[in-house]
Amino acid sequence: MEDCVFCKIRKGEIPSTVLYKDEEMMIIKDINPKAKVHLIAIPNEHVPMIEMMTTEGCCELGKFMGKISHMQEELGLTNGYRLIINQGEHAGQTVGHVHVHILGGEQLKDF
Ligand code: AMP
Ligand code: ZN
Repeated sequence: MEDCVFCKIRKGEIPSTVLYKDEEMMIIKDINPKAKVHLIAIPNEHVPMIEMMTTEGCCELGKFMGKISHMQEELGLTNGYRLIINQGEHAGQTVGHVHVHILGGEQLKDF
């Protein structure tokens, strides 16, 4: 998508701290961190909402969880982490490209 910030980051049109990149996804640092470590896992394919994803796309989101768990140490998430997907208006989704927030690096507050 031409005006999508995450697609622009993937294409190198907007600078970002990219910690991991492969043929399916990338992990970047959130520009406005809500925890000591706040990363975002972003599928390469531009899909605005989960309900618009194919079954395969949804399975990929599951695969992300496995990848993140294997990279836990190198991402600075030694003592655990929280994964969040904001979906739609009530959740406060601001970027219309499905993504998973990864929060950790410190004791997180209950929610
Ligand atoms: P959400 O509110 O769930 O849609 O999350 C979008 C996230 O993208 C927010 O936490 C923003 O801080 C983050 N964000 C927006 N623009 C950038 C950017 N250029 N680089 C890194 N993170 C960004
Ligand atoms: Zn996009």
